[in-house]
Amino acid sequence: MSHRASPRIGMLGGTFDPVHLGHLRSAVELSEALSLDRLHLVPAAMPPLRGEPRVSPEERLALLRLGIGDTPGLVADPRELARDGPSYSADTLASLREESGSEARLVMALGHDAFLRLADWHAPERLFELAHVVVIDRPDHEAPLPRALEALIRGREAAHAEALMAQPAGGLLRLTLPTRMAISATAVRRRLAERRSVRYLLPEAVEARILECDLYRHH
Ligand code: ATP
Repeated sequence: MSHRASPRIGMLGGTFDPVHLGHLRSAVELSEALSLDRLHLVPAAMPPLRGEPRVSPEERLALLRLGIGDTPGLVADPRELARDGPSYSADTLASLREESGSEARLVMALGHDAFLRLADWHAPERLFELAHVVVIDRPDHEAPLPRALEALIRGREAAHAEALMAQPAGGLLRLTLPTRMAISATAVRRRLAERRSVRYLLPEAVEARILECDLYRHH
């Protein structure tokens, strides 16, 4: 048995339309900050709260795989693509919980912009039964919390990572990671549609495939 009894598993869901360095750098720093054994990056097949993504789920997954490359601790996780209907994070967390056992420390990470809408998600209370919620600050998204969200998170906030990790689930942690990047997929798509450069916003392999396959070029 390892010196630490309970595995620490993270999930970062998203559209990844396309994956960019804001996602990937945050993923690495989040893993370090929480000493995660593994962080699953999970593309949504049909995000319930936003419009249809521009490229197919399979293509978004392929780009994500290229972006992750051989980065230790990061996993491109296709489990939502195999499910019919809308992609609910509660279902994804339930399946991760089943795999990792009741003692595992399970963390659902999300950016501040996504966090602001958390109370509107499917079964928000259930998310906290299954996992901790960790909110990553984004420099381009800073807004006060809506009322329903305040109520949802009341009494859950942990002061630091190790306090959070004392329990398998149920806590909330807000993290300012060392590198905050004002990169969004929306801006990347816009640049591609306008035929401007996206160099250094995405991993090179992701950029190369997008240009090769002529993705995101058409409005
Ligand atoms: P879009 O611009 O299309 O809305 P996005 O760049 O926000 O996309 P998503 O796929 O929606 O990307 O993001 C997945 C998750 O990663 C969300 O929780 C989001 O808040 C977070 N995230 C995205 N970009 C960043 C960033 N630059 N820094 C930290 N977190 C980020």
